Amino acid sequence: MTETLMHKGSCLCGTVKYEVRGKLGAAIYCHCSRCRKATATAFATNAAVAASDFVIEGESALKTFDSSPGVHRIFCSNCGSPVISSRDAMPDVVRLRLGTLDTPLLAPPTAHYFVTSKAVWYEIHDDLPQFA
Ligand SMILES: [Zn+2]
Ligand SMILES: [Zn+2]
Repeated sequence: MTETLMHKGSCLCGTVKYEVRGKLGAAIYCHCSRCRKATATAFATNAAVAASDFVIEGESALKTFDSSPGVHRIFCSNCGSPVISSRDAMPDVVRLRLGTLDTPLLAPPTAHYFVTSKAVWYEIHDDLPQFA
């Protein structure tokens, strides 16, 4: 049953559309300073996806910013939506920015990461595990 359900999403302007044709990894909240700046909000919500399961349309609109060597943040150059990130060290995986989903997230986020970099004005109000 769950195999027939799929995650689909798009950027703000709709130029970039994608489908996840496989399992989404565990969703996590990332409070690292790079995700905060890249999303201009308190945290990013990300999940790993096998690169081979990730099918994207409108790829020519994508631009890449390397936030550190070998770490590529890929966004729509038309509207600025962050879509995925990738790492040279893990070429088989992309990290999807879940705020771009148009379909329901089938499993809720499981943890908070990089909480030591958390925005001081944001308080975590749940009981999920927190990792420094
Ligand atoms: Zn866009
Ligand atoms: Zn992060």
